[in-house]
Amino acid sequence: MQHFQSETSDNRTPDTSEPNIADHSDLDIQKTAPPILLSPPHLGTDELGFVVNAFETNWIAPAGPHLDAFEQEFSEAVGISHAAALSSGTAGIHLALQLVGVEPGDEVFCSTLTFVASANPILYQGAVPVFIDSERTSWNMDPNLLSQALRQRARLGKLPKAVVLVHLYGQSADLGPILELCNEYDIPLIEDAAESLGATYQGKATGTFGRLGVFSFNGNKIITTSGGGMLVSEDATLIAKARFLSTQARDIAPHYQHSHLGYNYRLSNVLAGIGRGQLRLLSKKVAARRRIYHRYLQDLGSLPGLTLMPEPTFGRATHWLSCMLIDPRKFGVSRNRVQEALRDHQIESRPVWKPLHLQPLFAQCDHIGGTVSEDLFNNGICLPSGSGMTDADLDRVIAIISSLAS
Ligand SMILES: *Cc1c(COP(=O)(O)O)cnc(C)c1O
Repeated sequence: MQHFQSETSDNRTPDTSEPNIADHSDLDIQKTAPPILLSPPHLGTDELGFVVNAFETNWIAPAGPHLDAFEQEFSEAVGISHAAALSSGTAGIHLALQLVGVEPGDEVFCSTLTFVASANPILYQGAVPVFIDSERTSWNMDPNLLSQALRQRARLGKLPKAVVLVHLYGQSADLGPILELCNEYDIPLIEDAAESLGATYQGKATGTFGRLGVFSFNGNKIITTSGGGMLVSEDATLIAKARFLSTQARDIAPHYQHSHLGYNYRLSNVLAGIGRGQLRLLSKKVAARRRIYHRYLQDLGSLPGLTLMPEPTFGRATHWLSCMLIDPRKFGVSRNRVQEALRDHQIESRPVWKPLHLQPLFAQCDHIGGTVSEDLFNNGICLPSGSGMTDADLDRVIAIISSLAS
């Protein structure tokens, strides 16, 4: 089966004129080895059957039996009552903000260490993001900073309309205290679980704790429909409303009648077929990614200056991406040099997300906290983590990084 180029690949051919930063002579032979991508799509055998079935039954529309079945099977897999399949995770966050009543001028608290898609929908609504920094133990939103920010906003009499909580790289945030705070101040929690399908907090799936949860099936996520997302909730009314808004908000009438602003955000029945096939493989994919993480932990985590992203005891991570901090003084070379060495061997890696409060797009926004996320960005690297990685692939990545150690 053909493997597609992951969207995060920079397609650069290795620049052989660059001097090697370490003696890689023992690895030279591997320069001809195939590229290793960060997190490419990994398809099983059932997906194509569902897609063929959609063609054969002519359900080539944003409706159909695969769409209904995918929502049903997904709900069962994560343990939630209701789910609406959408064209993207970003669409899910946008609808979630609308469903909890976010309006122009409202503030919305959001994790700062994340992909831009967590916060873009806040701007779509004309609302104002306030970014909360990370804790070191999970790299996710620091509950103490959230508490501090809520207390301060309560004093000003301007509480946020929602909290968007991200579960980064397959690792659950510390949901207990965060939920408690949201309940105390009566603020709806929206979980951005785009990267954490399959992860749990105290045994329960991430994305199922808040008023609404959002998942993504983009090409590089743990399961993919090429593009797609899922909005979930225990509240049937919210999900019914999401389906309505995602299909142009058409009123019940014999003609086309509209009283609300709607969107074209529904997932297609064809892509839902891919999702059904992928979902059956979820537990295998989680196991594969956890195994990859544990290989890195064992072989790289023992080297001076290298620290794998921690896994706190409150949850079970999928390690969607295996991430690692590089202390250049102890390891001898910087994160950027490690990336260059990997690129030289056609191995894709990337820096940890640049915090959103440091993005020019959000330069005007408030940021609560210190420099934890900034430090994770400066020294953090995401290593190849695809569930289709072989032992030989892992050996290659580990050998190249190990050879750089001083
Ligand atoms: C991928 C991702 C999204 C967006 O999902 P799409 O399906 O690509 O729109 C949102 N938040 C985070 C944290 C993501 O990684």
